[in-house]
Amino acid sequence: MLKIWVVVPTCLPLVLRRCHVCASERFWASGNFRVNANHKRIDAWLLALCTTCGKTTKLTVLERVNVRSIRPELLAGCTTTTRPDSGAAPGPGRAAP
Ligand SMILES: [Zn+2]
Repeated sequence: MLKIWVVVPTCLPLVLRRCHVCASERFWASGNFRVNANHKRIDAWLLALCTTCGKTTKLTVLERVNVRSIRPELLAGCTTTTRPDSGAAPGPGRAAP
């Protein structure tokens, strides 16, 4: 009998980046975004937290992109606030749903 397996990510991957506060080199993506708009141009960053000290860093997702050229579902995902229990990516020490 043939079985078809599907691989589905359960959380966001760890980000390898040096922390400026401590010696850690790993950040976990919180699943939250910061968005800044300037007229018709938009910037969006994915917020990531240091696994050791919790320092926040921004990972560029969109940079000076015309808002009309962004897929509506991507724009909605960047501007919608998710609650921690709503299926957002679990961080270290938090149980996966
Ligand atoms: Zn740190």
